[in-house]
Amino acid sequence: MKKQKKTRPRWGLMGGSFDPIHYGHLLAAQAAARHCSLSQVIFIPTGNPPHKPIGLTAPAGNRYEMTLLATGDNPLFQVSDLESARVGYSYTFDTLTYFRNHYPQTELFFITGADAILDIHTWKNGDILTEMCHFIAISRPGFDLAKLEALPRRQRERIIPICISPIAISSTEIRESIAAGRDVSQWTPKPVLTYIQSHGLYQHRAEDMPPATVD
Ligand code: NAP
Repeated sequence: MKKQKKTRPRWGLMGGSFDPIHYGHLLAAQAAARHCSLSQVIFIPTGNPPHKPIGLTAPAGNRYEMTLLATGDNPLFQVSDLESARVGYSYTFDTLTYFRNHYPQTELFFITGADAILDIHTWKNGDILTEMCHFIAISRPGFDLAKLEALPRRQRERIIPICISPIAISSTEIRESIAAGRDVSQWTPKPVLTYIQSHGLYQHRAEDMPPATVD
């Protein structure tokens, strides 16, 4: 009898600020799961980067809770507070090290925006990150995936580009719309909207905020 090859479980690690989370992120996670046969996608909202002013950027705890609300009805999705519960900025290298150590049998796929991945060489230990797991680069209308060609070949070969369309939403646009009093109900699930309203998030425009101070 032919011996069956044992396949490793495949997990997506969905990194981003999720400030706030929107339908583009949820669709991207679904698309990545389908494309790469992922058995689950774990959303990992980032910690509070020291250079972004609170008020413009929602605190990490709020972003984590909004991510829980947005993903709660999809059994494919989980949320981790690994980065958001830490003080200060978190590095993808540390997050990947954690998952590799705790789940050595799992094949990992780090999912994030293609524009963020373009800068991967500037991330902590950027030269070895693509050896630690696969990367899925999510592109949206307006981003030219050919830009990824600029990365060294050995990194490019570990990056799986996925283009989702036609939803052109960005968290920046949502924040600006909320500050301007515009309706954003078509861009993010209702529980997230209710949370934003009840916590008074994103009420200020970028130009009205005091400059960030870094200790
Ligand atoms: P960001 O400000 O949230 O996102 C940058 C761009 O990518 C935005 O256009 C964003 O769109 C999009 N994006 C973010 N997450 C996405 C996702 N999961 N699916 C689709 N599009 C997404 O984030 P960032 O600060 O650049 O970080 C992105 C990820 O890279 C995080 O996990 C972060 O920890 C990691 N990173 C690590 C390092 C490091 O280790 N040194 C450095 C930079 C980034 P929206 O605004 O609409 O979300």
